Amino acid sequence: MTTNVSTVPAYAAPAANAPLERTTVPRRPVGEHDVLIDIKYAGICHSDIHQARDGWGEGIFPMVPGHEIAGIVAEVGPGVTRFQVGDRVGVGCFVDSCRECEYCAQGLEQYCTRGMTGTYNALDENGEPTYGGYSSHIVVDENYTLRIPEGIDLDEAAPLLCAGITLYSPLAHWGAGPGKKVAIVGLGGLGHMGVKIAHAMGAEVTVLSQSLKKQEDGLKLGADHYYATSDPATFTELAGTFDLVVSTVSAPLDFNAYLGLVRTGGALVNVGAPEEPVSLSLFSLIGGRKTLAGSMIGGIAETQEMLDFCAAHGLGAEIEVIRGEQINEAYERVLASDVRYRFVIDASTI
Ligand code: NAP
Ligand code: ZN
Repeated sequence: MTTNVSTVPAYAAPAANAPLERTTVPRRPVGEHDVLIDIKYAGICHSDIHQARDGWGEGIFPMVPGHEIAGIVAEVGPGVTRFQVGDRVGVGCFVDSCRECEYCAQGLEQYCTRGMTGTYNALDENGEPTYGGYSSHIVVDENYTLRIPEGIDLDEAAPLLCAGITLYSPLAHWGAGPGKKVAIVGLGGLGHMGVKIAHAMGAEVTVLSQSLKKQEDGLKLGADHYYATSDPATFTELAGTFDLVVSTVSAPLDFNAYLGLVRTGGALVNVGAPEEPVSLSLFSLIGGRKTLAGSMIGGIAETQEMLDFCAAHGLGAEIEVIRGEQINEAYERVLASDVRYRFVIDASTI
């Protein structure tokens, strides 16, 4: 039997900067290799806010954000081999890629030469806009669908699909582990997962937050040390300390100051995506043979590896579950750094 989900309820931003409102959007029929997902939870990422307010430009409206999706398979296409009805699944930031370029071939679909197809705010291969997870159902190719291990509740799993993998990938790539000193800048959605994952990898973890307001939480999440970046003494005391600093900050940051915290040969990896450019003195890099790098989410295989790692270590996100009608209020709280530590929408209220 085919479920009729051609039109589904969703929350959309009708135009840049307009509040999100309840509407309906089309979903494609379930194709040969597609799964239909009954969405249970969708996380709110700061990237949703940047895009719904068109801070990165070229937004496609109406826009249904949401790329931290957790749900249950409700139907599978005839050619699907990896999933069955009833499976616990997730969808992250992209739902397709060219599948042919050197990066797709290496499982680095997020760096696809043609450009990955975003879960929302993108056009699919037929030129139709994609709509994200603030919705009741979504249809996704099985090759871009993740398996959520039994050990993680679906609400706490949803944020792993973006926040979790965005920190796991650079922490793994730059070798966070025993004997390494890692700093996480910004204790929000991404940052709190960075603390949990870096701690589970065995690194010595320091949180660099604007204030000490969340210190107790940070230490409970697994941080060994916690400093306020509003205190100039932090930058002198910690000069040259870290093998790896990962910035998750959503606003422009003084990277020169943060590079001062990196030890010789170490790296500052930025995953934040602020809307304005930053300025950099190259002297911040050459003096200590330092690396300044960026990193974007992770490929499908690595995202599955991250989910399995989190299940093995008992890690999920710290969440506040909200109803659909609270999305706009939640956006304001994220913008005010008042999130502990991820808002997750209960999709049954959409
Ligand atoms: P979030 O929950 O709002 O966390 C960002 C944190 O940055 C805040 O909690 C705050 O931490 C700190 N912060 C905010 N404004 C600041 C300022 N003006 N100066 C210094 N620190 C500030 O956001 P998120 O969802 O974690 O996303 C963070 C950024 O990463 C966003 O720009 C998002 O678009 C981007 N992102 C990138 C990727 C990727 O693949 N690279 C993936 C997802 C998201 P404290 O209160 O602790 O200071
Ligand atoms: Zn995200």
